[in-house]
Amino acid sequence: MIPQVDVGMVAGSSTNALSFPRDLQVQGVEILGEGLSFETPFGPSPEFVHFTYAGKEVLTCRMHGWRQGVPRAQASQQVFWVFHEAGVKTVLAEGGVGSVNHLLEPRDIVIPHDYLDFSLRKGVSLDLPYLLTMRQPVCPDLRRVLAESVLENKPPRYLFTRGVYVCTDGRHFESPAEVQMFKQLGGDVIGQSLCPEVYLAREIGAHYASVQLVVNYAEGIIKDWEHTELADIFYNQAEMAGKILISALAKVPDDFSCSCRDLRKPTMLRDRLSEQTEA
Ligand SMILES: [Zn+2]
Repeated sequence: MIPQVDVGMVAGSSTNALSFPRDLQVQGVEILGEGLSFETPFGPSPEFVHFTYAGKEVLTCRMHGWRQGVPRAQASQQVFWVFHEAGVKTVLAEGGVGSVNHLLEPRDIVIPHDYLDFSLRKGVSLDLPYLLTMRQPVCPDLRRVLAESVLENKPPRYLFTRGVYVCTDGRHFESPAEVQMFKQLGGDVIGQSLCPEVYLAREIGAHYASVQLVVNYAEGIIKDWEHTELADIFYNQAEMAGKILISALAKVPDDFSCSCRDLRKPTMLRDRLSEQTEA
C-alpha cells in the first residue's frame, strides 16, 4: 500500500552521505516507515522513507532513486509513479552541480529557474494523457520556499535564486569543449538529475523545485577542481542540505500562486493515436 502524502522528496548527492532524514535528528520529524519499496509498471521502486514534519507527510528516496543495474530514466519513472499514486502535489529535490558560470564558487547554492536538457533520456514519461508545457518549468513559489530555507540554515557561501541548469546524461563529467559550449549557450551549472524529474513532476501535476550545491568547477572553468574538496563538500555539507529540505516543508504553502497546474493540458493526441493503432 502506497501511503497518501503531501510532498515527494528526491534526495540527491548533497544528502547521500546521510541516512536522511533520520541522521539529522531534527525535533518534530517522525519516521513512519523506512525501506519501503513498491511494485510499479516500471519495475520495483527504490526504497522510500515515509515521515512527517510540520504537518506534512512525506515520501523520500535516496540519490534520485538511481541504483546499480537500473537505468536512470527507469528509476525516475519508478519514483514519480509512486509519487503519482501517493497523490503528491509538491516535489522538492536536491543535488550537486559543477559551476559553468565563472561567478560561482564551490559551496555556493543555486536554485535553478530553467534548464537546458542535454541528457539522452528523452521521452521519459508515465504515459499520462497530458500535453506538458514547460513555460515556467520550476515552481516560483517553491523556489521562494527553498531560498528562505537556505538562508535560515546559514549557508557557507552565497545563494543564487536563479540559474540555468544544464542536464547531461553522465555518469562521466563533461569535457572542457562541452563545458565551453554550455557556457556559450547560457548554462550556469551542470548536473545530471533535473531532467527528466522536471517533466515527470509536470506530468503528475506537481509543483517542482530543487536546491543545488556547487561541488566543483566544471572543466576549463577557473581552475582544475580537486577531488579532496569535492569529497569534503560531499561529506561535510550533507547535514546543511538535509536541513534545508526539512525546513522547506514547514513553508510549503497550502495555496500556490504559481501557474504550474495550468501548464498541464489534456493531450489532443490520444484519440488519434488509438485510431491509428486500431487501424
Ligand atoms: Zn508551482
